[in-house]
Amino acid sequence: MQAEKLCYECKVVKPLEEFGKKSSRKDGLESVCKHCLKLKRMLHPRRKYTPIEIDATATKKCVDCHIEKSYSAFDKNPTRKDGYNTRCKTCLKIARKSHKHTFKKRPKKTKAFTMTLKLASITEKDYLEQLEKQQGKCAICGKLETSLDNYRKADKRLSIDHCHKTGNFRGLLCTKCNVGLGMFGDDSEMLQRAIDYLESRMY
Ligand SMILES: [Zn+2]
Ligand SMILES: [Zn+2]
Ligand SMILES: [Zn+2]
Ligand SMILES: [Zn+2]
Repeated sequence: MQAEKLCYECKVVKPLEEFGKKSSRKDGLESVCKHCLKLKRMLHPRRKYTPIEIDATATKKCVDCHIEKSYSAFDKNPTRKDGYNTRCKTCLKIARKSHKHTFKKRPKKTKAFTMTLKLASITEKDYLEQLEKQQGKCAICGKLETSLDNYRKADKRLSIDHCHKTGNFRGLLCTKCNVGLGMFGDDSEMLQRAIDYLESRMY
């Protein structure tokens, strides 16, 4: 039995209880952690209105052609308050033809994670493969990341550690270990001296 699982959204390995139940999935759990789901819902609240009961005589004015039409002339749209589009079917068709661009999807914003990967010049696949190798834990202390990302108010991903001389990707570290290495200038000789020091003072 696995006790932890990778969140598909934040790419953090978390204890299973951090994932909501979802019976349709193989492991019975959501692929995205509770925190990410909450964040998603906060950022993209999805209002759902059920179409109002329409009697045959009810009409609605189209915002484009300004013609009062029967509800059957409008497509259903659960994001609208009355459950129907503001444009009639005819106007929608015309608008789609003449203003294709207004229906194009907005380009996705580059995510912070994508930027991080870019800066470290590794791919998401590299990151996830390494994460899998390390079972989601820090390559030095062997623990899950415990510090919070103040900006995203979320659990932090393990940091990408690379050699400052060669620029090569070395592995994934928790914040503490990453900062610790940095404090010693990534210098193994200096770290060894620190170990020698600690061991010589063990009374
Ligand atoms: Zn997550
Ligand atoms: Zn119309
Ligand atoms: Zn660590
Ligand atoms: Zn010193």
